[in-house]
Amino acid sequence: MNPICIIGTGLAGYTLAKELRRQKYSGSLVLITADEGRYYSKPLLSTALAQNKDTTALTLATAEQMASELQAEIKTGSPVTAIEPQQHTVTFGSTCLTYDKLVLAIGSTPIRLPLTGDGAQEVLSVNNLDDYGHFRQLVQQSRRVAIIGPGLIGCEFANDLLQSGREVLIIGPDRWPISSLLPEQAGRAVQQALASHGAVWHLETVNGPIEKSGTGYRTVLKNGVTVTADLILSAVGVRPVTALAQQAGLQVERGIVTDGYLRTSAADIFALGDCAAVNGRNLPFVAPLMAGAKALATTLCGQETAVTYPVMPIAIKTTLYPIITLPPGTTEGHWEIEPSDSGVTGRHFNAQAILDGFVLTGQATTQKSVLIKELNQ
Ligand SMILES: Cc1cc2nc3c(=O)[nH]c(=O)nc-3n(C[C@H](O)[C@H](O)[C@H](O)COP(=O)(O)OP(=O)(O)OC[C@H]3O[C@@H](n4cnc5c(N)ncnc54)[C@H](O)[C@@H]3O)c2cc1C
Repeated sequence: MNPICIIGTGLAGYTLAKELRRQKYSGSLVLITADEGRYYSKPLLSTALAQNKDTTALTLATAEQMASELQAEIKTGSPVTAIEPQQHTVTFGSTCLTYDKLVLAIGSTPIRLPLTGDGAQEVLSVNNLDDYGHFRQLVQQSRRVAIIGPGLIGCEFANDLLQSGREVLIIGPDRWPISSLLPEQAGRAVQQALASHGAVWHLETVNGPIEKSGTGYRTVLKNGVTVTADLILSAVGVRPVTALAQQAGLQVERGIVTDGYLRTSAADIFALGDCAAVNGRNLPFVAPLMAGAKALATTLCGQETAVTYPVMPIAIKTTLYPIITLPPGTTEGHWEIEPSDSGVTGRHFNAQAILDGFVLTGQATTQKSVLIKELNQ
């Protein structure tokens, strides 16, 4: 019998492999990854500086340890270059492997703005352990760090850098931080809280060319302000990795298209995690991939099971000012906000006046279970 083959050893790939073994799949299992296959929790990358963790401390298990735990073959440093859905084969290096079922868990990649200037190529993004290792090394020699992108990841890195004693500037066109997930009052509360710890916000503007200046960088913002920094981090979002699937003729839209069973448009090929668009939704977070891995493992063990998502609030790791949000599924409806000195409580009601989202900041985050209960009523 040919193996179940998983491409990718991020949280999606490894969680699925663990789930398969937990559900007593006893057949052969092959994981193929472009990287070193270390098992780690990606969300910790934006809180690791303040905890003084390097890549070794973040590594929960090596590929060898995972291979032994999972009773699997793990091919590291092996980018897959082609999939032949008709032949049921994948190609990496000079190897062509035949699979029984194939799972694409190939993740997402940081969006790179079309930056100009002689320093543009040196702007960093952090989306995996190696990126973090490089970033951490450069941060050691940096006093001031500029972050392009005041979204969730940008704010988490700002929080981590502030706690590590760095000066932090945050630049972006948004009117308030994390504007795609938070209503204005909550975003302003975060802005104020991080400012009180030293963050300097340059909102409603964008950077110009990134020029080298001494040992650091300089950019003139569109609003005319000149900013300098020793290091620049770009955190403007991620996009699903889809080229491999596209080349293989799979349907790709906002990710690799799957149905509720995580089946792609090709027989015996599934997609899971950041790379997938499940029933039209790309959800690049841990909770959806956990739910997906569980359902997919059950399907691969012989009992067809569609993924069902629980209520999945997002805990934003701005530890200086915590936030929990359950973004509403639609833009229709309205927010009802209760600000207080200790934090913001916001409830979102849809067009039918049904509670369909919430936000809690600061001390109000202790009310998470109350809000989840209200949602489930
Ligand atoms: C800094 C940061 C903080 C975050 N914080 C949170 C949080 O607090 N809560 C939350 O829910 N989510 C958070 N997220 C998002 C979450 O971490 C991701 O949704 C999740 O880790 C994605 O896992 P994945 O396995 O789908 O993708 P990835 O981790 O990107 O893994 C993709 C894998 O595919 C491999 N690969 C890609 N192409 C190929 C190829 N051609 N051949 C072979 N291998 C290939 C890669 O080498 C890698 O092993 C955060 C993300 C970041 C960057």
